Amino acid sequence: MIKSNFHTHTCFCDGKNTPREMVLEAIERGFTTLGFSMHSFLQQDLHIVPSRDRETAYIREILALKEEFKDEIEIFLGLEQDLYSDAPKSDFEYLIGSVHYIKRGDTYYSIDGGKEKLRLVVDKCFGGDFDAFAEEYFSLVCEVAEKIKPDIIGHFDLIMKYCEQIELPESDRYLAAAKRAIKNLVPLGIPFEINTGAMSRGLRTTPYPSKTLLKFMFDSGAKIVFSSDCHNKDFLEYGFDLAEKMAKDAGFTEHGIITENGVIYMPI
Ligand SMILES: [Zn+2]
Ligand SMILES: [Zn+2]
Repeated sequence: MIKSNFHTHTCFCDGKNTPREMVLEAIERGFTTLGFSMHSFLQQDLHIVPSRDRETAYIREILALKEEFKDEIEIFLGLEQDLYSDAPKSDFEYLIGSVHYIKRGDTYYSIDGGKEKLRLVVDKCFGGDFDAFAEEYFSLVCEVAEKIKPDIIGHFDLIMKYCEQIELPESDRYLAAAKRAIKNLVPLGIPFEINTGAMSRGLRTTPYPSKTLLKFMFDSGAKIVFSSDCHNKDFLEYGFDLAEKMAKDAGFTEHGIITENGVIYMPI
């Protein structure tokens, strides 16, 4: 399997390390490719995501590192773009399309801010009905893919990040909503992440999507990308061995990597 990661956060947003520290760590671990994916600017949530100025400084920094380390590792300038953010795609070499909020009126409720916040969203916006929440969430994932046309679909089932913590099973209604979204997304040809970010935070013991959804993805003709959703250099390839095994068990034989010519697929 090609050693790579394209979902990498740094101190330019909510990550711990500088981009340079991440690059050195990736080289040390024998990575051939590293993609940076700062959170996109979102006007309504300035306390969590970066300002436009910060975005400009980030672009300058990553492009400088790309040049400096070009003989040792291939570096890509990406962005994790939220559904509700309008970043100019032309500034970046690739995009991860993600949904982090449920919107009601002018209020953006984070669904990625801890299990208490998640519970609050479900109670406040859906009367406690998690499956109704899932139905809206998965329709938003389809919307982000249509709107942004990203190169990677970010954490497809993010809402299950805390499922082990709150003992939340994948109900029939939940699975039906997820499978509908997969069926809608596969024809777009955009790979789905197998994301180990919740594992490195100690929130889950397995990557997401679950075995059930991975199998459904494979049977539906989906493509995948391994991603550590890294916020700390120590976790750059955290859980990849398990993610690889789960991918193979589901039937996948290839994983996507970003190149100068877009996503290509290599043997797992
Ligand atoms: Zn995200
Ligand atoms: Zn992320």
